Amino acid sequence: MLKPSQAGFRRLLPLLRPHLRQLIAGFACMLVYVSSFLLLLNLAGDLFPSLSSRDLPRVINLILQGVAIFAVQKLAQFGMDSLLAGPALLVSQQLRSDLFRRLQTVELGALEKLSAGDLTYRLTEDADRVSEVLYKSIHDTVPSALQLIAVLGYMLWLDWKLTGAIVLLAPVIVWLISLFGARVMAATERSQKKVSELAGLLGEAIDGLPLVRAFAAEPWLQQRFESEIDQHRRARHRTYSLVALQHPVVGMIEVVGLFSVLGLAAWRIQSGDLSIAGLSSYLTGLVVLIDPIAHVTNNFNEFQQGQASLRRLRQIEREPQEPADPSDAVPLGALRGDLKLENVVFSYTANEPVLHGIDLEIRAGQVVALVGPSGAGKSTLFSLLLRFNTCQSGQILLDGHDLSRLRARELRRQVALVPQRTTVFSGSIAEAIRFGRSASDAEVIEAARLANADAFIRSFPRGYDTLLEERGSNVSGGQLQRIAIARAVLGNPALLLLDEATSALDAEAEAAVQVGLRRAMADRTVLVIAHRLATVQEADQIVVLEKGSIVDRGSHDQLMHQGGRYRELCERQFIRDLQNR
Ligand code: ADP
Repeated sequence: MLKPSQAGFRRLLPLLRPHLRQLIAGFACMLVYVSSFLLLLNLAGDLFPSLSSRDLPRVINLILQGVAIFAVQKLAQFGMDSLLAGPALLVSQQLRSDLFRRLQTVELGALEKLSAGDLTYRLTEDADRVSEVLYKSIHDTVPSALQLIAVLGYMLWLDWKLTGAIVLLAPVIVWLISLFGARVMAATERSQKKVSELAGLLGEAIDGLPLVRAFAAEPWLQQRFESEIDQHRRARHRTYSLVALQHPVVGMIEVVGLFSVLGLAAWRIQSGDLSIAGLSSYLTGLVVLIDPIAHVTNNFNEFQQGQASLRRLRQIEREPQEPADPSDAVPLGALRGDLKLENVVFSYTANEPVLHGIDLEIRAGQVVALVGPSGAGKSTLFSLLLRFNTCQSGQILLDGHDLSRLRARELRRQVALVPQRTTVFSGSIAEAIRFGRSASDAEVIEAARLANADAFIRSFPRGYDTLLEERGSNVSGGQLQRIAIARAVLGNPALLLLDEATSALDAEAEAAVQVGLRRAMADRTVLVIAHRLATVQEADQIVVLEKGSIVDRGSHDQLMHQGGRYRELCERQFIRDLQNR
């Protein structure tokens, strides 16, 4: 009855291996728990006839035995529940951690296409559901199923004809359950997809709320949100309706089954094949069966929902991954920072290349400004230098090492990026500068000094321990940029990639950032996507990119003198700056 897709949970089994001892102890308790039911059934067979024989000492003796069996059973149940909870939770934690690790290595192009809200939902809600199902399966479904098998076996031994009749009824019930289960799963998957979409929209909406307000687009967003939640409600309603129908139908079948059994039992006693003691055990067995049947039925539904969640989680695994490091990677020593690009061709898709045969040589310590219209390929060039992407032909050499022959993490320790829009994680300023690297306090302070950030950081009451709020919203734009510069120069990278911020800072803040930048750039090879005239003029080399090709290169004076594309760009910017003044 299991579909191939349901093998999902089976694939989690290897994750249980490290917890084998605890599982074995838990299962031992489970066996005691299940066996106790057989003892109780046997006892019931003795007890009920004794009640009618008025043999009080025997009845008391049997009751005491019953209490003792119950005590052992409850103790075993406690052992089973507590021993099995740990492994189930650890497995789901492992699953979450594995998926997050996987997410960290998803190719950046693919990552950009994923919705943050949707991913968050998967790694929280879906992972929780999987964890819940896993826990229930181990500590509830398995003992219930075992109890079902053991009690049924005992009943077969008591009267196989009667039990045979019951067993014939079982497939009907199972068929009905699975019929509903498949539908419940499909409906749940649809409803979960809706919640994911809702989370995606919410993520976008929260980010874009100021913009929405600026455009007075609140009614539009409200309407979009309401349409999403309406679709979500409908999807949920369908699941609830199915579950509502399932309970009475399955319940009815069970009741009809039970009455049929009672009728058959009466016939077996009449014909003398079943004793009163046997019937007592038998009927107690039937009562004892109701609970595990209910558990297995309910858990089966949850299992279906868990399958849907697990499948959604597993989709993350199918996202394309960053290319692995070459097995014979060259270890990187201290670098000077000589950079050479030879006929570099790169395209994101099979169609038009974004960079057409770029040749560029930068000596260690030089500053090169990349200028050109938006879409020219400047950021793409940065992504190649960080090895977020690899070029299709040509090569990039750093101190003579082909980038594609290096370990990505080692390379990235030598290539530091100051992005246009700085993001920081919530935490202290010192943590933001360290960004997971091991560096002493003195090194952090040194980096901050270089970035012209030390003084303002110290002016905060808690200094380097000042907590940055999400996205650094409690410091100014200029301060955040200086933190980003300190973060980049910590570890003394050989190559600094600078994407100048275009958003206007006030003159004072801008000057402070410039001081930091100038110090950070000293004695380092720097590639800067330049928007400010000052940076461009001071660069050793200016490279004008257009539609993925270098159309002009030289110093500011040379290029102004030549009067090519660069001069046009400068004049246009000069006029724009004049107009903005
Ligand atoms: P610039 O930084 O000069 O503005 P980019 O390097 O961002 O230019 O973009 C160069 C070209 O590559 C543009 O045509 C852009 O649309 C395209 N491009 C950028 N990123 C991607 C991507 N992840 N997938 C497909 N095309 C992209």
